[in-house]
Amino acid sequence: MSKLLIVGTVAFDAIETPFGKTDKILGGAATYIGLSASHFNIDSAVVSVVGDDFPTKYLDLLKNNNINIEGVEIVEGGKTFFWSGRYHNDLNTRDTLDTQLNVLADFNPVVPESYKDAQFVMLGNLHPLVQLSVLEQVNDPKLVVLDTMNFWMDNSLEDLKKVISKVDVITINDEEARQLSGEHSLVKAARKIEEMGPKYVVIKKGEHGALLFQEDQVFFAPALPLEEVFDPTGAGDTFAGGFIGYLARTGDISFENMKSAIIYGSNLASFCVEKFGTERMQDLSAPQVDERLLAFKKLTQFETQLH
Ligand code: AMP
Repeated sequence: MSKLLIVGTVAFDAIETPFGKTDKILGGAATYIGLSASHFNIDSAVVSVVGDDFPTKYLDLLKNNNINIEGVEIVEGGKTFFWSGRYHNDLNTRDTLDTQLNVLADFNPVVPESYKDAQFVMLGNLHPLVQLSVLEQVNDPKLVVLDTMNFWMDNSLEDLKKVISKVDVITINDEEARQLSGEHSLVKAARKIEEMGPKYVVIKKGEHGALLFQEDQVFFAPALPLEEVFDPTGAGDTFAGGFIGYLARTGDISFENMKSAIIYGSNLASFCVEKFGTERMQDLSAPQVDERLLAFKKLTQFETQLH
């Protein structure tokens, strides 16, 4: 069985959407990635840090989804990473209201001995130096996927570029791809980002789907048109968790198989947005996932009659 090592935030989030507002709830990139990847029955572990203000029931939730949390450090007297955001009416854009690094500010990640040989590594969104340190502790992974966001481009660009130069796949949203590359066209942006290191570039476009680039090959997957979108928080991480989870499950990292991985990632992300925070991902069943996968197939299949 493939091993998947995930690093990212395990966090408190406070979210505001046009439909409501939450207090501090469970969030964090690694949380969403782990819950999403757990649908592939692989051996996964999270490396992260929380304060002793973090409820045990949240850690139990990860454990109960078969996610190893040996690598989640609990800092005595420390405060957990906190992020707060407000979505605009289109739900596709948001403003970050607050980012409190707290225990993340001086986190030295320790990869558990039994995951140093992980074949798949997901460097979820957090400080690029933490991502780099995790990468230095693993032996010889088959595939490394990096996710990041504008916060780190604004605050630690040079460190971020170092990590980017060492990964196989990068997943970012369209705005971030433009910021990172300085190009408006996403095709040109992807090409420039490939020159920074990654062989594959995935650009997430929220409700407008996701693009996969490798040299001159492009694949596009739409997002499923949903009746209800309640809270997009974590959709990008859920997508990334589904993407790498599927690749880890199949062990095939070809471009062809990455196309399927994009669909599996988009499928899982479509559930994430239906409720606040991680709520929908907590009660998501395998038959529900499979049923929607068929809807995805229907959405994108058509006949061609060439003259
Ligand atoms: P997404 O909606 O997929 O971009 O992910 C949202 C999640 O990312 C939230 O649960 C936040 O806790 C987490 N997050 C927000 N800002 C940061 C940051 N600067 N570094 C790491 N994680 C973050």
